[in-house]
Amino acid sequence: MQVNHIRRNLNLPKPEEGTDILKKFISDKLSTILLEHEIRRKEIYIPRLGDHTTNIVHIPSTQQARNEFLHITNINGQNFSQREKTDGVILTNETLIEGGILQIVGDCAVISFEDRGKEVVGSIHSGWKGTAKDITGNLVERLKDLLGNKSLKDIIFEVSPHAMSCCYEFGEQDFLQNFKKNPLEPELPGLLERYSIKPEEIAYKASEGKVKLDILKTLLLVLQKNGVDTRNISSKNICTICRGHKKGYYSSRKDINKRFGVLTYST
Ligand SMILES: [Zn+2]
Ligand SMILES: [Zn+2]
Repeated sequence: MQVNHIRRNLNLPKPEEGTDILKKFISDKLSTILLEHEIRRKEIYIPRLGDHTTNIVHIPSTQQARNEFLHITNINGQNFSQREKTDGVILTNETLIEGGILQIVGDCAVISFEDRGKEVVGSIHSGWKGTAKDITGNLVERLKDLLGNKSLKDIIFEVSPHAMSCCYEFGEQDFLQNFKKNPLEPELPGLLERYSIKPEEIAYKASEGKVKLDILKTLLLVLQKNGVDTRNISSKNICTICRGHKKGYYSSRKDINKRFGVLTYST
């Protein structure tokens, strides 16, 4: 698995800004940057910014991608496809060979994954909102469906630079509200109850009424409790807020609107 960090300011246009602006972004900026990085994947799949859903799409073929993805832009034989309301993409078969997934983030974690047999590759965007809604648990379910239970031990995971526990401050009430109850369906138990996690295991007291949230530990616990061997999970351990933003791993809290890219593909 190759995970390229595109440490350039990528501020993907919002859907309401229209497809022309999006095409301009791709032709003027994105394709040039990928060229500079010598990334020549035939198909690049880009989930839209800021949806924070738990949706994960499985794209086995470019034909399927044409059905699922809107706004396909071809530049020099490279297809860039965007899709709204999705935060995770799994590639298999044809798209695994030809494609890559570009997540554009600033503070949220991206989990990239591939199985050792190279049958699946993909990534999910799991910021605090997606994590609270349990996109990570959803990912494991999808991977089990695709590969079967036994293969779980053969999947490796890599967590991108993100806002880490040294800096990721939240109001304690905000944290409890979103992690005690499921933000999608408030009548359902939230992440804490679902995985028997104590609040103090993932959120540390900061100043009065504030906590610092440990997204990495949360992701590790969720993956582990879903049957993943934590030895198969690595992290860049770079906090976007205090260290990364100076090196191009932008923080949207620190550098308003700046974002970087995480491109994942099979090698
Ligand atoms: Zn995000
Ligand atoms: Zn920090």
